[in-house]
Amino acid sequence: MTNAETPKGFGLTIDFGAAAPAAEPTVVTKAAAAAPTETRLLILGSGPAGLTAAIYAARAALAPVVIGGYAPGGQLMLTSEVENFPGFPDGIDGPELMAKMRAQAERFGSVMVDQDVDRVDLSAQPHRVWSAGREFRAEAIIVATGASALWLGLESETRLRGRGVSACATCDGFFFKGQEVVVVGGGDTALEEALFLTRFATKVHVVHRRETFRASKIMISRVEAHANIELHMNREVIEVLGEKSTEAVMLRDTTPGATGAPERLAAGGLFVAIGYKPNTAMLGGALPVDAAGYLQLESETSASQIDGVFIAGDVHDHRYRQAVTAAGDGCRAALDAERWLAERDASRS
Ligand code: NAP
Repeated sequence: MTNAETPKGFGLTIDFGAAAPAAEPTVVTKAAAAAPTETRLLILGSGPAGLTAAIYAARAALAPVVIGGYAPGGQLMLTSEVENFPGFPDGIDGPELMAKMRAQAERFGSVMVDQDVDRVDLSAQPHRVWSAGREFRAEAIIVATGASALWLGLESETRLRGRGVSACATCDGFFFKGQEVVVVGGGDTALEEALFLTRFATKVHVVHRRETFRASKIMISRVEAHANIELHMNREVIEVLGEKSTEAVMLRDTTPGATGAPERLAAGGLFVAIGYKPNTAMLGGALPVDAAGYLQLESETSASQIDGVFIAGDVHDHRYRQAVTAAGDGCRAALDAERWLAERDASRS
């Protein structure tokens, strides 16, 4: 829900609210100010999980309110072309896919509130959520706030994002057929991405800032044994070079006392794999998290440990992290919430 860019130039235009207005919207959402503050179901997050939950819940006549963030749409808003989302044989731009999901959710009566969630109180019924000074109340809540990739924080990295700089090998690896690429990071994600990228790249350079990897032993042995992976230990990327696309990175030796000049490493792609941060701060610890900070499910369903609160997408899933798995998760959460609400109605009648 953070760091997203405003989509532009697509056939389908939607109004993303005051924070990111689109020119001449053809599908106009209700203004956040007009959104009802009392609803049966609130959905927090507007990535594939949140919007799929909204589509299902709206079709079940629950008229869900989606508090989707000032920069709605989730991580796909940062992706250029998506080629692995079923139903789009020619691929589709990430922001366009999200615009279509949003339009589909709105078509059936979902109400979008393009504001961040500030805090929640899930301790009693109705559950309460505060956003931009307003209090929303709902019997059921789906938390689908996603996760954000961590970035190095370089100006050149931001400028070339989507032009060779990526945080998702599964999404973008295919575009680097026949090229050399760099992967930054020393954890399981980085080594997994490096191995995946060997399917396309002629050579994968893994750059890690320390002498030893944080990743599991098995991943380290696979990477070390791979003929097309070259390891650059005690190195960090200090700049990405290229005007319109990525051409090389500059590496600095992080060995204590090292005085050598930065080295240039030619590569058409830079994959930053230094971890993800699940977006849970607004929950204020209301739901339990695992050691890596991801929300935990109560059972094999999408239910959390709190009655009437359900979880979907990357905010709990650090294994698959795909748009299609998040969408599937959103569907599950909406069905679980719908059943939970029906049982609640039945028990009260
Ligand atoms: P991680 O384990 O936290 O590793 C992050 C890596 O990025 C570390 O090596 C860290 O370096 C490096 N790093 C962090 N900030 C950096 C910076 N600013 N500049 C350069 N390098 C930086 O994250 P992860 O790899 O995403 O894994 C997260 C969790 O998911 C882990 O528990 C992991 O085991 C799990 N996971 C499992 C699988 C699997 O089982 N297949 C796959 C992926 C992830 P330092 O080591 O120096 O701190």
